[in-house]
Amino acid sequence: MIETPLIFDIKRYAINDGPGIRTTIFFKGCPLRCPWCHNPESYSGQKEKMYSSAKCIGCGECVKHCPNQACRLTPDGVVTDPDLCRLCSVCAEVCPTNATEMSGREMSVDEIMVAIKKEITFYDQSGGGVSFSGGEPLMFPVFLLELLKQCGQNQIHRTVDTAGLVPEKTLLEVAEHTEHFLYDLKMMDSVNHEKFTGMGNELILRNLQALAKTGRTIDIRIPLIGGVNDDLENIEESAAFIAGLAGPPRRVDVLSYHNIASQKYSRLGRIHHPGPLAEPTAERQEEVVALLKNHGLDARLSSRW
Ligand code: SF4
Ligand code: SF4
Repeated sequence: MIETPLIFDIKRYAINDGPGIRTTIFFKGCPLRCPWCHNPESYSGQKEKMYSSAKCIGCGECVKHCPNQACRLTPDGVVTDPDLCRLCSVCAEVCPTNATEMSGREMSVDEIMVAIKKEITFYDQSGGGVSFSGGEPLMFPVFLLELLKQCGQNQIHRTVDTAGLVPEKTLLEVAEHTEHFLYDLKMMDSVNHEKFTGMGNELILRNLQALAKTGRTIDIRIPLIGGVNDDLENIEESAAFIAGLAGPPRRVDVLSYHNIASQKYSRLGRIHHPGPLAEPTAERQEEVVALLKNHGLDARLSSRW
């Protein structure tokens, strides 16, 4: 297991990643491969080069400065040979238009804490804090725990955004230093879950039950994808499962799928096969929220993805 994550983004003034105004730290690396992911750069825990032909002006600076002759200009833009590229970042540093960027940078706990503490006034005024997201932040428990402990020492409210596919022991240890969780529940059928994400959901469901018993605040998030999990049978089963968790009725955010990340896939040089993924109809979205509410849940449509 990699103990030190790469960070692929730090979002300031985030308002959809927990209560109040927050700073969200995005860890690179995830055990799942959901094809609807809006952050495909979070799949891999390694550094990656991202290229946008729309932003490229064909100046050739990247080609000129690459120490490994890994990239070349073509009529279709810059092409990088992955066998030669050493991900040294030189091309991104010299690119005048940010057509080439690197995703993932090394940051120490101290450096991240500096970024978090800069916004403490906003957290205090808004009831906000810090959120750790990804990717899957729980893939890096030692690093994450150190950050959580330091935030706790500074009285900064802590949210962890997880898909729950981690050892239970890790989740419960993290829960000791976390006030609030955002927990993804994608679908109840494990065979389907594995078909779409690459992994079954037994551990995810067991972990959610165990986490609920700790008394931590947990908001459930259901990504709603037409052709994948928006059938009412799955939603009914999900609603019954959430309603049966220990503790108070949960808030459930329903996040409707939009195919807005396809450009990111191409910037990473990946071919995206959306397969059956579709945006759920407005009528189905309303039906889903109503069904969740029928189970006593505080359900709503959410713009966050
Ligand atoms: S990351 Fe480094 S090795 Fe790879 S293409 Fe850019 S400059 Fe060349
Ligand atoms: S340096 Fe940037 S703008 Fe210039 S050719 Fe390379 S990618 Fe395109």
